[in-house]
Amino acid sequence: MKSLQKWIVSMRPNEVIIIGAGPAGIAAAIQLKRSGLNPAIFEKKKIGGLLNNANLVENYPGFPGGITGPGLVALFKKQLESFGIKIIYEQVESVDYENRLFIVQSESKITESKSIIIASGTRPKKTTDFMISDNIKDRVYYDLSDLPDVEGKNITIIGAGDAAFDYALNLARKNNVAILNQGHTVKSLPLLYDRARQTDSIEYLSQIRVLEINESSAGQLELKCRKNNGDIDIASDYVIFAIGREVRLDFMTENLKKKRNELEKEGLLHFVGDVNGRIYRQTAIAVGDGILAAMKIERKHRGLAL
Ligand SMILES: Cc1cc2nc3c(=O)[nH]c(=O)nc-3n(C[C@H](O)[C@H](O)[C@H](O)COP(=O)(O)OP(=O)(O)OC[C@H]3O[C@@H](n4cnc5c(N)ncnc54)[C@H](O)[C@@H]3O)c2cc1C
Repeated sequence: MKSLQKWIVSMRPNEVIIIGAGPAGIAAAIQLKRSGLNPAIFEKKKIGGLLNNANLVENYPGFPGGITGPGLVALFKKQLESFGIKIIYEQVESVDYENRLFIVQSESKITESKSIIIASGTRPKKTTDFMISDNIKDRVYYDLSDLPDVEGKNITIIGAGDAAFDYALNLARKNNVAILNQGHTVKSLPLLYDRARQTDSIEYLSQIRVLEINESSAGQLELKCRKNNGDIDIASDYVIFAIGREVRLDFMTENLKKKRNELEKEGLLHFVGDVNGRIYRQTAIAVGDGILAAMKIERKHRGLAL
C-alpha cells in the first residue's frame, strides 16, 4: 500500500499547514510568519497559481499603470524569500482529520498539523463536447501559463469571459489570435473586450460552435465549426480553452468533508481565495482571505476568542 511507504516527517505536528502557494496561500504564509508561526506550505506546480496567467493586473493597489501577473508573482516570491518561507514543492494527495490533527499526505510524506488553510484555488473546466485525440493534446491547453513562449503563431481561444480576452491580449503581442464565442453575449469586462477589438491581431467571432478538432494533412490543427447553420474550418497552431473553472478540493477525504462545518466553526479549518467558489475571484480578495485566516489562527493559538 502506497501510504505505508510514507513516513511522518516530524513527531511534533506543525501548527499550520497551507495547501497552495497562489496569492491566498502566500498572503496567509507571510502573515503567519509575522505572528511567529511557521507554516508548512505545499505547492504542486508554481508559486503564484493562476496569477501566472494574468496579462495585466490593474486592480491590485500599489501598482499605478498595472503590473503583469508574472511580475506580481515575482514580487510575491521575493517577499516570501525575505521572510525565509520555504515552499514544499509537492502535490497534496489527501487531507484527513483524526485525534484533533489534520493528516496531510503529499507525494513523499505524511505531515500533521493542528490547523490548516486550504488555498488550492480552481482548475479549468475541460470540454465535454468532443474528444481531444492524443496526437493533438500537446497543442491544446487550458491554462495560458502552460503554453510555451510562442511567436508568429495562429492561436484560437475558445471562450468569452475575462480569461479568454485577457489571454488574447497577452498572446496578440506576438501572435495572431482568434476568440470564438459560442453565444452572442460577451461575459468579460467591457474594458478587455474594447481593447481586444482595437487590436489588429485579434479576431473575434460570436455565435460559432466548435464541433471537433483534428489534425489537417498539413499538420495544423483544424477546428470544424458551425456558424449560422453553415460549416467553416479554422486552421490553428494552438487552441486554448477558457470555458470556466471549478474549485479544486479532490484531496479532502469523506471523513473531513463530514467534519468541515464543525472544524470551520472551531477556527481550525479555513478555505481562502478562489477555492471558495464565489463568483468574485480576484487577487486582492484572495490575499484578504489569506490574511484573515492567518490572523484568526494566530488569535486562536494565543487562546483569544475569534
Ligand atoms: C487570465 C486571468 C487573468 C486574471 N487577471 C486578474 C487581474 O487582473 N486582477 C486580479 O485581481 N485577479 C486576476 N485574476 C484572478 C487571480 O489570478 C485569482 O483570483 C487568484 O490567483 C486566486 O488566488 P488563489 O490563491 O485563491 O488561487 P490560485 O491562484 O488558483 O492558486 C492555487 C494554488 O494551489 C495549488 N494547488 C492546488 N491544488 C494543490 C494540491 N493538491 N497540492 C498542492 N498545491 C495545490 C495550485 O497549483 C496553485 O498554485 C486573473 C485570472 C486569470 C485566469
